[in-house]
Amino acid sequence: MNIAARNVGETGKAARLGFENVVHRYGADDVVRNVSLTANPGEVLCLLGPSGSGKSTLLRIAAGLEVPTRGRLLINGIEVSGPSVFLPPERRGVGLMFQDFALFPHMTVASNVAFGLTATPKPMRAQVVDDALARVGLMGYGEKYPHMLSGGEQQRVALARAVAPQPSVLLMDEPFSGLDSRLKDQVRAETLAVLRETGATVIIVTHDPEEAMGMADQIALLKDGELVQAGPPHMLFKQPANLFAASFFSETN
Ligand code: ADP
Ligand code: MG
Repeated sequence: MNIAARNVGETGKAARLGFENVVHRYGADDVVRNVSLTANPGEVLCLLGPSGSGKSTLLRIAAGLEVPTRGRLLINGIEVSGPSVFLPPERRGVGLMFQDFALFPHMTVASNVAFGLTATPKPMRAQVVDDALARVGLMGYGEKYPHMLSGGEQQRVALARAVAPQPSVLLMDEPFSGLDSRLKDQVRAETLAVLRETGATVIIVTHDPEEAMGMADQIALLKDGELVQAGPPHMLFKQPANLFAASFFSETN
């Protein structure tokens, strides 16, 4: 296997990310079945589907945490994962934000945000951290510790950490699931505003149709590892491809 030497994605510039006939197998189970899907530059793509439909696996393949069993992953048209190529996560220009925020409890907010800035020259890091905290409305929070913050504030620190390195593609796995339901609408709206401002291509994993409807430019609906339908939210809502798609959306209405 060739370990590709070059970077893809330009810092601060949205990239196109494509899955091409991707299959992923755990043991004897195909948990992703021949998925072809493209996240267009600057758009918010939601991977939507019930638990176990393969959403997180696709995200982990995009991040470089899993290698697809078959098929290819392309960033800006360059193959980064396939039968003979593997570009490691740090060369893909992708950022990751996990479900439980994954903040380091023993580190200050500023150190948490600085954690992903290995590619940023040291003298510039403090400024980049301050800018990222300002973007999420947490100016002056740098010296606090995560336990001193509310759930919503912790989520914003995680968001600041994810956007600080200016990724070309930002990957978010159920980023709101750890939040109190009363907070969710507001945090989603605030997050979307920050994401729009950064301009990155964003892929959000969610099992919540309402969340996908409210945030996505494109929704990819998955079931049992298969792509059921992909398109803008209104299309999935008005012209569901099958009974599964129709019932998935009607549950919220
Ligand atoms: P989702 O995020 O949509 O809930 P996942 O991508 O996490 O789905 O999982 C898809 C399927 O793959 C599930 O059946 C899950 O149990 C299985 N799976 C996920 N990770 C592993 C693993 N590391 N080993 C074996 N099976 C796994
Ligand atoms: Mg998942």
